[in-house]
Amino acid sequence: MERQTTIRELKGIGDKTAALFARLNIYTIDDLLLHYPVGYDRFLPEVAVNQLEEGQVCAFRGQLQGSIAGRKTRTLTVSTCRVSDTTGEVSLTFFNIPYLKNMIKPGEPYIFRGLVQGKPASRKMEQPTVYTLEAYGKLLDTFQPRYSLTKGLTNNGITKAIRQAFSGCTDLAEYLPGKIRERYNLEGYREALEGIHFPENEEMLKRARRRLVFDEFFLFIVQLRRCRQYSQEISNTWEMLETADTVRLLEKLPYKLTDSQKKVWEEIRADLQGTSVMNRLVQGDVGSGKTIIAILALLMTAANGYQGALMAPTEVLARQHFEKMTQMAKTYDLPFVPVLLVGSMTAKEKRDCCERIAMGMANVVIGTHALIQERITYRNLALVVTDEQHRFGVRQREALAEKGLDPHVLVMSATPIPRTLAMILYGDLHISVINELPSNRLPIKNCVVGHSYRKTAYQFMQKEIANGRQVYIICPMVEAGEMEGLENVTDYAGKLKTAFPADVQISSLHGRMKPAEKTRIMEAFARGDIDILVSTTVIEVGIDVPNATVILIENAERYGLAQLHQLRGRVGRGKEQSYCIFVSASTQKDTLERLSVLNKSNDGFYIAGEDLKLRGPGDLFGVRQSGSMNFRLGDIYQDASVLQEASEAAERYLEEECVSESGDTGDIPSFPYIDFRSI
Ligand code: ADP
Ligand code: MG
Repeated sequence: MERQTTIRELKGIGDKTAALFARLNIYTIDDLLLHYPVGYDRFLPEVAVNQLEEGQVCAFRGQLQGSIAGRKTRTLTVSTCRVSDTTGEVSLTFFNIPYLKNMIKPGEPYIFRGLVQGKPASRKMEQPTVYTLEAYGKLLDTFQPRYSLTKGLTNNGITKAIRQAFSGCTDLAEYLPGKIRERYNLEGYREALEGIHFPENEEMLKRARRRLVFDEFFLFIVQLRRCRQYSQEISNTWEMLETADTVRLLEKLPYKLTDSQKKVWEEIRADLQGTSVMNRLVQGDVGSGKTIIAILALLMTAANGYQGALMAPTEVLARQHFEKMTQMAKTYDLPFVPVLLVGSMTAKEKRDCCERIAMGMANVVIGTHALIQERITYRNLALVVTDEQHRFGVRQREALAEKGLDPHVLVMSATPIPRTLAMILYGDLHISVINELPSNRLPIKNCVVGHSYRKTAYQFMQKEIANGRQVYIICPMVEAGEMEGLENVTDYAGKLKTAFPADVQISSLHGRMKPAEKTRIMEAFARGDIDILVSTTVIEVGIDVPNATVILIENAERYGLAQLHQLRGRVGRGKEQSYCIFVSASTQKDTLERLSVLNKSNDGFYIAGEDLKLRGPGDLFGVRQSGSMNFRLGDIYQDASVLQEASEAAERYLEEECVSESGDTGDIPSFPYIDFRSI
């Protein structure tokens, strides 16, 4: 069995199960092995009942008090009972366990493990797992992987498939040169993979994770450096003159550029007219107004008779840009002829579009990956802008660049990467920073609240909706059963419909929907036809609906602060006062402290730095800091020291590779096993 073998070769995976795995984007053994756990169940020692913490999964030892009461509804058997130790009592509820009486016998101690709910005086657990003391003793201190799931696939099912894959897979050989492994004291590849899924202890998990993170960074940097784009200056063959159109646009816009926007636009203008082609990263916090900068660059390009391309990470965002530019072209009479090219268009639509590009009838091409996947011939592509570029592959960017004759490249990012890290990741890319927000913005008002506040929050939303505003609600999961204690978009939208009057329009959005469906919903939201949009973090990137003034984020403790900051950036984009409500059941001091950083600042750089300080770099189980840098495990902030090492290793590796073409560096020709699709 090899890594590219289909998972259907595994025992117990037929068509039906394979289809479930496909929902998680798992098709091959390789996909399965790279489906890393999202966390681990740690079977920690039991605690006394009065030590239980609300919102945490805990285990306690207790004995049955009184008897087990049961009732039946049409679909459910509900059993309830009370158990206690010498320090307190917990009410338990079980669903569909008719044989509970055989599991919990009076007078015997058991370990109950589950999510702690309710205040100390009324502690509750729903559907806890019941263990005999002996059974729990065996699990004590172990780490059980927890995977992201989909309806119909259990954690156990995935675990079994992965165990099988390990025992059957024959090509998990080491590929890093021995020298590098020794110098950086790295775990072996196979051991690391096994260690990330089934760590025997914390030490093993740490080593496994460090190795795999190292690989992600190392391979990323090697690939990046190998791209011609990043290693040489390429001379600028695009002759561009100043144009009156940009000046006119700036005069007619309903706002004035901020000083930093002006400065960045100056830098780009100079690049476009410079001696070598532009290779520039524009960093600007969410809402700082990066889009207009891109539009100005595209306008100057178009006015000089060339084509420009604008690539967005999602179809929704591409459409948003397309609408905006089409409208601007009309309103301000600009020489833009934009076309949209996205995956969900019909073959005929795509053909028409490509024809217009090839003939030079269109001069701004806006799209997603389709811009490089489709066979497009550009007539004279002089500028490529990528929005939120981290979602693009290095190779994809290169591929697009190859379609023109060395076009200028401009990448826009909201991820606050400190300059030193940016240098490691992007080498000699030039960096411009937009470090202020437009002055018409009122700072977003924030609050961190528990579940009991929801009702008040809904009333507040209702008021905003009555005033014509719109609302986002973010849940971490798509559907029920994916993970205990986490809200999911599907059920949540259902619940909301009963909490709001019937004329409030509620819709949901998530990554597993078809692109056309997502677009339809996003467009309806942008038009104001939807009042409340319940969504996963798919809306995190770029979406600009200035009329949305409230965002409520459920299970806020699950996200890194930088990601929460991005999500919060979906509101506060217009002149109205906006609000961000972080909902978290956690009463843990450190969680609350972490979330409170968001109250103190709206500055992405500051927030990322504080988060790192609070958690420390060794936080293994923590949430990911940067939702937008798509490494599987690695986190550029949290793993900054590994990034530094990997960068050094990559430079050295490439130097040696240059010296001895066939040499003993242990060739890493194409890194077949690391998935760069998402980096
Ligand atoms: P981001 O940097 O997150 O991509 P956008 O470019 O989407 O931000 O801009 C956010 C909103 O701010 C848009 O509605 C845009 O029209 C507006 N905007 C941009 N620049 C300014 C400015 N200088 N003054 C006021 N509003 C601005
Ligand atoms: Mg943007």
